[in-house]
Amino acid sequence: MPHDALIIGGSYAGLSAALQLVRARRRVLVIDDGRPRNRFAARAHGVLANDGRPGAEIAAAAHAQVAAYPTAAFRRTEAVAVERIDGGFQVAFADGTRTTGRRLLLSHGVEDVPADIPGVKERWGRTALHCPWCHGYEIGGGPVGVLGWGDHAAAYASTVAEWGQATLFLGPDTVLSPEDVRLLHRRGVTIETTPIARLEGEAQTLTGVRLADGRFVVLKALFVGANVRIASPFAEHLGCEMTDTPVGRVIKVDAQQQTTQPGVFAAGDLARAASNITLATSDGMTAAHALFRSLIEEETAAA
Ligand SMILES: Cc1cc2nc3c(=O)[nH]c(=O)nc-3n(C[C@H](O)[C@H](O)[C@H](O)COP(=O)(O)OP(=O)(O)OC[C@H]3O[C@@H](n4cnc5c(N)ncnc54)[C@H](O)[C@@H]3O)c2cc1C
Repeated sequence: MPHDALIIGGSYAGLSAALQLVRARRRVLVIDDGRPRNRFAARAHGVLANDGRPGAEIAAAAHAQVAAYPTAAFRRTEAVAVERIDGGFQVAFADGTRTTGRRLLLSHGVEDVPADIPGVKERWGRTALHCPWCHGYEIGGGPVGVLGWGDHAAAYASTVAEWGQATLFLGPDTVLSPEDVRLLHRRGVTIETTPIARLEGEAQTLTGVRLADGRFVVLKALFVGANVRIASPFAEHLGCEMTDTPVGRVIKVDAQQQTTQPGVFAAGDLARAASNITLATSDGMTAAHALFRSLIEEETAAA
């Protein structure tokens, strides 16, 4: 096999794993087609030593550092299929070529599925935001909206309230308990029951939201809790168990990022609910160490 590890997804989680493995002189192939989840945002925040740096720049620096090791290899393309073969895995690429490796790390991330309200999609990552920890500080205070999101509306809105005068817009599936209402009241959150008809403002800016009854609510940003979906079906095809989280279905892993299928590891957003660059990077490192141990166990058993 030409590679000890095939890594599908060469962003934060995948590159973090690759760095560990190439430093152990393992032959790693990182496959990536350049669509990280945060590509809609101008800058990444809350990332130690990289606060405010564009996310693509952080990934490019990581890529360059991994690429400096002689056992690192890259394919800038889409992986379209993966199958288990004797002794490892075979991955097929969009151009019809294939390669093989002894272990597989899935780190190909997730896609966001934000609320289907006119104006959200084009402002995603700019003024329609998912995470106050990533972008709340930059709003600089003032009126902010929170789109109610299932059972999590009250917790989400009471968190966002730290970064502005928050209004919670209830979604069709949002039911608030009396405790939720008390919490929101204590956090100074206004509750709006009329649905949002659309977001308004030039291009990606936001002046506010137009409600279904015609009223206009001035906002600097709207926080939209999004569900996620794993774009590529590799884990399911390989028989990995999945697990349901508040944000959607992700790959089930143990504390070492090992999936329920031998030889298959998963790291980053596709294997966790709470997600950010730091957590994805940490998962990648954990997965790499477990993957490495599984290689040496096999090698020492065979010796
Ligand atoms: C708008 C927005 C802004 C964000 N801002 C921040 C922030 O400021 N700070 C922060 O810490 N976090 C932020 N996040 C969260 C952060 O983007 C994710 O937690 C992080 O990107 C997860 O890293 P990952 O490596 O798991 O996946 P990703 O970064 O999403 O990378 C997955 C990679 O896999 C590749 N891929 C997918 N399928 C295939 C395939 N079949 N073949 C080849 N390659 C494939 C993709 O092209 C992509 O490069 C933000 C998220 C969003 C949505």
